[in-house]
Amino acid sequence: MSKPIYALIDCNNFYCSCERVFNPRLATQPVIVLSNNDGCVVARSEEVKAMGIPMGIPVFKIKELITKYNINVFSSNYALYGDMSRRVQSIVAQAIPHHQIYSIDEIFLRLDDDLDPFESAKKLRARVLQCTGIPTSIGIAHTKTLAKLANLHAKKNLKFEGVCDARSTALLTRLRRQTPVESIWGIGSALTKVCHRYGASTAEALSKLDPASLRKAHNIGLERLIRELGEVACFELETAPAPQKSCAVTRSFSHPVTDKAEMLEAVATYATRAAEKCRENGQVAQAMQVFMHTSPHREEYTWDALCAQMSPPNADTSIFLKTARTLANACWKAGYRYKKAGVILFDLSTHHQGSLNFISYDASKREQTMETLDAINHKYGRNSLFFGAQGINASWRMNREHCSPHSTTVLEEVPIVKAK
Ligand SMILES: [Mg+2]
Repeated sequence: MSKPIYALIDCNNFYCSCERVFNPRLATQPVIVLSNNDGCVVARSEEVKAMGIPMGIPVFKIKELITKYNINVFSSNYALYGDMSRRVQSIVAQAIPHHQIYSIDEIFLRLDDDLDPFESAKKLRARVLQCTGIPTSIGIAHTKTLAKLANLHAKKNLKFEGVCDARSTALLTRLRRQTPVESIWGIGSALTKVCHRYGASTAEALSKLDPASLRKAHNIGLERLIRELGEVACFELETAPAPQKSCAVTRSFSHPVTDKAEMLEAVATYATRAAEKCRENGQVAQAMQVFMHTSPHREEYTWDALCAQMSPPNADTSIFLKTARTLANACWKAGYRYKKAGVILFDLSTHHQGSLNFISYDASKREQTMETLDAINHKYGRNSLFFGAQGINASWRMNREHCSPHSTTVLEEVPIVKAK
């Protein structure tokens, strides 16, 4: 039987690339994107990587470099990134039906039926670039782990022109030799130490270890990884993602919250979003937790969380709001400067599982109301229609000082092209 053929398509410096699509002036300039609340660097353009600015560094530590090198700084604009991701996904899905969306900017593919996987990958890459403006890299190999490894080299080594086909033994051996174990998919710092203990510092050395005895000494995960490096596929495409068991909506505040009304508004907003997420996935929640805490770096640190059973399990915004506000009220302690709060849902299940108590709850009527609410907000934009409990001013919202326009999701912010 012939070996399966996997590929991984990964958007290059995705968030930075999204910013560049709608601001071509940035094409050759250094760009960084910051995490929520403009805290740390979460995406860097190649120019910034070359300056040695590491991923995750707090932005205040590189203030001088930003001025010195004229680095363009953006707050994260997830509405834009999410929409661009959806566009990339739809182009890939049209071309390759057998795929697995792995993250916001990565998709695994199966190319077994393809007569020329390398050619198809090149075409796909060109099409994604043409239709979305997002540059990508593609790695091709006989296992997912190796496709990921090939992708790494497709990105780093310009000679590959964005597509690295690691199916030939000679090239594969060379790539494995050039890849340190810590860069392999699924190897974190703990496993890196294990590999080093066995004298394996590269993917090539690791692939030569005996998988069966490593399984005995460690676990099946390591065994599978070694086999995957040796071109024996152990990880299939997961085309239907496993349903989530929990869901969290949490945010840091732009300024310390000391007013209970503000806190209740924030928690209500998170609960509303959590309910929407549940409904998007056709799920109901069995339990809700609300938590809030002050800054752990200050003296009077306090953290509180309370949980409530949802009976019957549901995804109804008005019930979520009532529950969340009750929990938040009980968590709240006056005199503290709260930094963050959140709503976490547990034991999510699909509608048809679990027991519904229909006696006190007219589920179908409530579901209709929620459907209408979602339909209106889908058509006119998030929070066009919202519950009063969410508040109107929302001064506690995150800092997003450097946010780019929502060029693809808000009509007023769509770029205007003038023709002469
Ligand atoms: Mg990427």
